[in-house]
Amino acid sequence: MTTYTAQALLEEFWDMKVPIKPEYFAEKLGLSVVKKDLGYRSGYLDEGKKTIFVNEKEIPERQRFTIAHELGHHCLGHGSAERNTVFPSGAMSYDPVKEAAANRFAADLIMPAIAIKALIEKVGIKDPVRLRQVLGVSSQALNLRLAKLGYFL
Ligand SMILES: [Zn+2]
Repeated sequence: MTTYTAQALLEEFWDMKVPIKPEYFAEKLGLSVVKKDLGYRSGYLDEGKKTIFVNEKEIPERQRFTIAHELGHHCLGHGSAERNTVFPSGAMSYDPVKEAAANRFAADLIMPAIAIKALIEKVGIKDPVRLRQVLGVSSQALNLRLAKLGYFL
């Protein structure tokens, strides 16, 4: 299968607008996004149904990150294994390397370095709350991203 980096997806499909809508990229790759009550889960990817399921009970910022995260699993070729599930046997399939990779993909996709740089340095947004609203992300996600990019607002 074809694997995509977040950068490649942005270059191919991004309309340069924020907040970035990860469901738009999912659609371009032939995936549906279905919002429903998933209980304790934020979301999961079903490759068989070509669908990303996202928990509609969580805040929109969290849902956006979840869609981008599950899209990351798809684009990185991780498949639709029950990655975060503890099975009755006690075995746990959580793969920290794949989860970290999907989180990196999500951050790269919905908070592109070029967009953050432009918003801070060209548009002049110095208020992290405003920046968070413009990007449609949680403060936790934004703070991690800003630190990684070397911005301290
Ligand atoms: Zn995951």
